[in-house]
Amino acid sequence: MSRSRHAIQPDLAAWPATREAGFQRLNSFLPRAGACYARSRNFDRGAGQHEAVSCLSPYLRHGLLEEPDVLLPVIARHGREAAAKFVDEVFWRTYFRGWMAHHPEIWRRYASSVQEAMDQRRATPALDRALTAAEQGQTGMPAFDHWAQELLATGYLHNHARMWFASIWIFTLRLPWVLGADWFLRQLMDGDPASNTLGWRWVAGLHTRGKTYLARRDNILRFTDGRLDPGPNLAREALALEDAPAQRETLQLPPALSAPPLAEAWLVTDEFCGSLPDAGDSLRLGLACDKQLAAARGERAARFSAAALRQAVEANADGGNQIFETVDGLLSSPLVEGWQELHCWSAPFGPVAQQLDQLEVALAAQGRRLVRWTRAHDARAWPHARRGFFGLKKRIPALLDALEQGVPGSA
Ligand SMILES: Cc1cc2nc3c(=O)[nH]c(=O)nc-3n(C[C@H](O)[C@H](O)[C@H](O)COP(=O)(O)OP(=O)(O)OC[C@H]3O[C@@H](n4cnc5c(N)ncnc54)[C@H](O)[C@@H]3O)c2cc1C
Repeated sequence: MSRSRHAIQPDLAAWPATREAGFQRLNSFLPRAGACYARSRNFDRGAGQHEAVSCLSPYLRHGLLEEPDVLLPVIARHGREAAAKFVDEVFWRTYFRGWMAHHPEIWRRYASSVQEAMDQRRATPALDRALTAAEQGQTGMPAFDHWAQELLATGYLHNHARMWFASIWIFTLRLPWVLGADWFLRQLMDGDPASNTLGWRWVAGLHTRGKTYLARRDNILRFTDGRLDPGPNLAREALALEDAPAQRETLQLPPALSAPPLAEAWLVTDEFCGSLPDAGDSLRLGLACDKQLAAARGERAARFSAAALRQAVEANADGGNQIFETVDGLLSSPLVEGWQELHCWSAPFGPVAQQLDQLEVALAAQGRRLVRWTRAHDARAWPHARRGFFGLKKRIPALLDALEQGVPGSA
């Protein structure tokens, strides 16, 4: 059994950021999405070997594929019972996004804690050195260092590796969890304000309050087939972190739509780069990811987001379409002249929400309107994501009925 560091294959060509590439990946995974997924999804076989899972997360995160695009073919192929584990996992994404939509204050709190922790890092050389070692995979803990380097090289990590990594970061290395979450968000091609923040909060015992996730050496050895060894120094206990309870807000979503309308002008953001109606004469404008986040993003993540946005804006383009780096850039463009309403899929939290809020105010000052829509699946599912996952899980059969019958969304 070799426990040395294994070479990381970055499979650079394997992630074209298009809807077609997402469907190709889905189709090749489809035979393994039933019993095989339920049996082997917890095994982390290493970069380029992640066949036990779908690796669809960058496509789902950027809206190149939406949850129904993935759920319906998997159920058609395997039936609901055999597909149940995979379906549950896809609904974890829906759940985390729905939960964050009920608790947008948790995103705001996280974002300001990241700034505070960065200030603390700048003021504390020992902390800075420890964080740099963790981020570069140079802590001396072989498994942890391997995952850090795999993430840097590929922009992806297996779910189990994310859990082990976050647990070691928080409970063994005792580093601030928000800076681990921030590093993930910037490096992962699927870096998502809800799934990532709440994934870290879950490991830390802040989401299901008091319930933590402790990485154990025997578990890591077993589920990496003995490939990776964290060494003997893992924390023996994981005492839950504490913070103020999350404040729930009343969920107020814009109207739901199953498919985007043929609007005069449509705004594409990096969360929603999926299909739009044939553009014809209508305009597509792209708003690139928040500048501050973009500047600090890992190469693989930045490249995937930029390519996803580009293909969405350019699809069926008649030449007038453009991507803007900032809200101000968009507003000062001559392209703004021709329309009164700019339509988009809504984002209730995270960097995109911040940009949309800013844009809405600025457009209103010009006598124009930002018209936001909610995706039908989100509108149906999110009202059941107020508390724990179980509240949504028990609704899954009815939500799948609605998807299979093509029922339009209603909140
Ligand atoms: C600390 C931590 C951070 C995470 N950060 C992110 C993130 O930034 N973005 C992200 O999409 N997921 C995140 N996850 C969840 C999960 O690890 C990834 O979604 C999954 O590993 C993606 O790989 P896959 O597509 O092969 O998953 P599969 O196992 O094939 O699952 C299919 C899809 O279901 C969804 N999914 C699966 N597991 C989860 C989960 N636990 N939570 C939410 N959605 C899930 C994803 O969209 C995924 O693409 C995080 C988990 C942890 C523990």
